[in-house]
Amino acid sequence: MPWVDEFRALTGRFSGQIEFDAPLSRVAYYRIGGPASVLATPRTLEDLHLLHLAVLKVGCPVFVLGWGSNLLFPDEGFPGLVLRMKHLFTEVREVGPGRIRVGGSLGASSLLRIAAERGYGGLERLTGIPGSVGGMVAMNAGTHLGEISGILISTETVSFGQGAESLEVKIRVHGESDFSYRRNHFLSPSDLILHAELNYVPEDPANVKAKIDELYQRRKATQPVDLPSCGSVFMNPKAWGLHAWQVVEKLGLKGYRIGDAQVSEKHGNFIVNLGSAKASDVRALIRLIRERAKNELGIDLQEEVRILS
Ligand SMILES: Cc1cc2nc3c(=O)[nH]c(=O)nc-3n(C[C@H](O)[C@H](O)[C@H](O)COP(=O)(O)OP(=O)(O)OC[C@H]3O[C@@H](n4cnc5c(N)ncnc54)[C@H](O)[C@@H]3O)c2cc1C
Repeated sequence: MPWVDEFRALTGRFSGQIEFDAPLSRVAYYRIGGPASVLATPRTLEDLHLLHLAVLKVGCPVFVLGWGSNLLFPDEGFPGLVLRMKHLFTEVREVGPGRIRVGGSLGASSLLRIAAERGYGGLERLTGIPGSVGGMVAMNAGTHLGEISGILISTETVSFGQGAESLEVKIRVHGESDFSYRRNHFLSPSDLILHAELNYVPEDPANVKAKIDELYQRRKATQPVDLPSCGSVFMNPKAWGLHAWQVVEKLGLKGYRIGDAQVSEKHGNFIVNLGSAKASDVRALIRLIRERAKNELGIDLQEEVRILS
């Protein structure tokens, strides 16, 4: 890309990790994806400012990456900056009775470990989700126990877009209309979630830990957690009163394979990477399932995985 040398010069004082022509397969749970022109993992607010100024100067596209657990990157890669929110803000702090402020880069497993130590009831709903707090809010992630929006009070965001001349932190107190099933309705593609405030119910730490442990065991028994995937590929088609895995099973597609992408034998709504799957293999499998669901069962399946093209 013609702008990359200028970008490199503009970010000389970057204190986080910055790589050029970096394979996205390394940072995606799926282990799939070609190179990003720039892959930057900021550690400080100064790093964010440097990246922002460089983006304004060169005008490259930006993609916000959390922990990469719900993404399918293209085989061709991404011709811009992938801004990886992995190490920026990871603290958890009590801010009032039943309220915590958590960093957007914190992983769900660390948050749950702290919840089990301190007795934060209500957070068990996030058990087994391998993403970051920012990614979970962006996706309104959840389990059968509820979605993150059910315990979310507010978020702090900055906008990284071309229109924003400076990184101004915006605080938003959330209401129901900001979210629906696996969707948020308030973020622009270049908005970054820096922090979120969550509520919890004080509980005996041993009880919280017991619930989390039980849910982890259930996951291990029912999901192919030992193979790269993006979790559920399709949202549950609630209008038909079915789970997406039931649709795939009705179609007889469990275990069906294109290249190294396979519909998991263990869970029909997971497509796993058996080793060297390409994004085109996964996309072909998704297309096949969608077409057959529509033609044979009249069901419209919608993707939960975010597919970059
Ligand atoms: C084995 C497995 C099991 C899973 N189980 C579940 C489950 O039970 N329930 C569930 O809901 N999901 C599940 N998922 C999917 C995934 O973990 C969630 O969608 C999670 O919320 C994604 O978080 P992430 O940080 O990895 O985001 P990414 O995958 O990196 O990104 C997802 C989206 O969020 C945006 N984003 C990420 N971070 C930020 C940020 N800081 N600011 C602004 N936008 C951001 C990205 O731009 C992108 O659009 C599972 C995935 C796997 C691999």
